Amino acid sequence: MTSKFSFVSQTLEQLKKEGRYNYIKENEGPQGAWLIINGKKVLNMCSNNYLGLANDPRLKQAAIEAIEKYGVGPGAVRSIAGTMKIHRELEKKLAEFKGTERSLVLQSGFNANLAGIPPLLPTPEAAVFTDELNHASIIDGIRLTKAKRYIYKHGDASDLEAKLKEGKDHPIKLIVTDGVFSMDGDLAPLPEIVEVAEKYDAIVYVDDAHGEGVLGDHGRGIVDHFKLHGRVDVELGTLSKAFGVVGGYLAAESLLIDYYEQSGRPYLFSSALTVPDTAAALRAVEILMESDELVRKLWDNAKYFKEQMQSLGFDIGHSQTPITPIMLGESKVAQEFSAKLFEKGVFATPIFYPTVPKGKARIRVMISAAHSKEDLDFGLRAFEEVGKELKII
Ligand SMILES: *Cc1c(COP(=O)(O)O)cnc(C)c1O
Repeated sequence: MTSKFSFVSQTLEQLKKEGRYNYIKENEGPQGAWLIINGKKVLNMCSNNYLGLANDPRLKQAAIEAIEKYGVGPGAVRSIAGTMKIHRELEKKLAEFKGTERSLVLQSGFNANLAGIPPLLPTPEAAVFTDELNHASIIDGIRLTKAKRYIYKHGDASDLEAKLKEGKDHPIKLIVTDGVFSMDGDLAPLPEIVEVAEKYDAIVYVDDAHGEGVLGDHGRGIVDHFKLHGRVDVELGTLSKAFGVVGGYLAAESLLIDYYEQSGRPYLFSSALTVPDTAAALRAVEILMESDELVRKLWDNAKYFKEQMQSLGFDIGHSQTPITPIMLGESKVAQEFSAKLFEKGVFATPIFYPTVPKGKARIRVMISAAHSKEDLDFGLRAFEEVGKELKII
């Protein structure tokens, strides 16, 4: 039977055949070390709730108080009537946290890339230099422009330099990179990138979604980690990972934020971040500025888990952060591994093409400060049992 949607059913069938169909699980309680899925309590090893703030009573209280004061919705886009005092408070706090002149809050990290990249590539004569493994939202931000694209080899500053040399005559040159690459947990070679950028007079834009709350002093991110303050032009952040809420932001000098307020399309044409999100995120930044206890706990947990996984004989890639990929190869193996873990009470979703290259399917474990040592041991036992059953170790 043919219908106007045959291409849809064919695609879905194909995904199932290749073991790449996403079966979405529903969580019946709050985020934390343990979740309730299908009525079953399972250890959560795959959310981005790095610091355990998603269900923190202090954030919840801040959201409740802000709702009492401001209601829930912003009522409009930022540039019409949607900018509330609390948005500006959050922006000031984020700028202070990042050590930049200003910041601009958007509805998500994804939207922040759609707001942050196109205005820096305003004409077809502009050029963008982008790491081949950059996040989907960076790719989409670039796709919204007519700029010339140069894709450099992953994490390779000398290939970047070769591409810059080739494109040196473009009047605007923008380098865009993830700070922490989310699927492997490795870092961009930012000191080298900045040096090359300075040599060719290029703008440097870093997406630090997985670096914030994780790298640097009190989790200030990758720029702080490498002590490159003032040498990176734009830092993108998300409020949805370590900060435990939702939202995104751009941190930069005043001139650029001023420009983004006039030209970032998700800022101009999509309503502002909601009141409870804004208030909870503000509290999260304050907590991080007051104490680095959660950041230290996160790293202790990550170090312990990675050491144990390695001594069990798993290939955990070359991560430099708490992101821990368990490399399994074919997507079907990763799906089976994940299903077996789930039977043993461990929730860790498989990741496969197109999120990672073909043949590089994996389970990506996300360690959190919310995990106790007992939680990690529970997870390690399940990994060991399934790994032996499937003859991975
Ligand atoms: C998660 C992520 C985003 C998107 O952030 P959201 O706030 O979830 O929209 C953008 N860039 C990178 C590198 C990410 O990992």
